[in-house]
Amino acid sequence: MAFSVVMPVFNEGGLIAQTVGALVQALSGERDYEIVLVDDGSRDSTWADISALCAEDPRVRGLRFTRNFGHQAALHAGMQAAVGRAVITMDADGEHPPELVPVLLEKWRSGAKVVQTLRQAPRQLSWLKRRTSGAFYAVFSWLAETRIQAGSADFRLLDREVVTLLAQHPNAAAFLRGFVPWTGFETAYISFEQGIRTMGRSKFTPGKMMALARKGIIGFSVKPLRLSSLLGALTCLIALATLVHTLVIRLAFPAQAEPGWATIASLLALLGGAQLLTMGILGEYIAVMFETLRNQPPFIVAERRGFPTER
Ligand code: UDP
Ligand code: MG
Repeated sequence: MAFSVVMPVFNEGGLIAQTVGALVQALSGERDYEIVLVDDGSRDSTWADISALCAEDPRVRGLRFTRNFGHQAALHAGMQAAVGRAVITMDADGEHPPELVPVLLEKWRSGAKVVQTLRQAPRQLSWLKRRTSGAFYAVFSWLAETRIQAGSADFRLLDREVVTLLAQHPNAAAFLRGFVPWTGFETAYISFEQGIRTMGRSKFTPGKMMALARKGIIGFSVKPLRLSSLLGALTCLIALATLVHTLVIRLAFPAQAEPGWATIASLLALLGGAQLLTMGILGEYIAVMFETLRNQPPFIVAERRGFPTER
């Protein structure tokens, strides 16, 4: 198998057939490939659509999760099931243009182990989404010492070598956008203008975006822990300075000594805030350790369609 295309699909009934149709069209020059569709617990007609696609075209395969495990888990499952010598991941909603896939393949065939696309956000994309993504990559690059190029999304090609590495480090799959540049493989970049979905709406709620950002940072950087120690040291200094200030006033001008509740109240608030923040950061790391130790599978597959029987 030359290559596999993996798509996570969540409640994209109607749209998925359209996207796969466009992809097959774009790949008309290719012979040896498969399309792996991962239904991430959809509640609409998505699985019926995927089953129909599998029945129509022997190159299409489907996996259905028992419930919604999330976009990264769906990518993980798809890459695990794929057998191509290269694996391309892309969104199922048409925002990642299928016409670009042959260009990714070309770069791969001329030697790149990773081909990463960089999204030029269309004007129609909400202000919030454009700003938050740019700011997040800047913060991430600083904290994690792994640069993520602005506009990187999970639309990329990975050589089998990189896919195998990923399979050996299941934790890495929690935040592919960080892991892929971290591996340091030779990467080709391609800019593209993101398409606009023609149906349905974004399944990435602000909550899901926040969770991804948090997992990305905690999984790739211990700097927040260091920063929280720094914060602790800083608040100690402030506390010390206030103490000296209070003592000086008390000793030098006993008559003018203020009752001082304002100082105490603000110090208490400052110290309390710093402690809680630091504990929160510690908690985030403990949560990740807990999840790793618990060793729960990142997803559970309910059904498979269209896979050759030996797989
Ligand atoms: N998706 C998924 N599980 C989720 C959320 C999204 O598999 O919990 C899929 C979705 O069907 C699409 C891709 O991930 O193929 C990107 O999602 P979406 O288009 O909603 O995000 P956006 O493009 O707005 O970032
Ligand atoms: Mg989308």
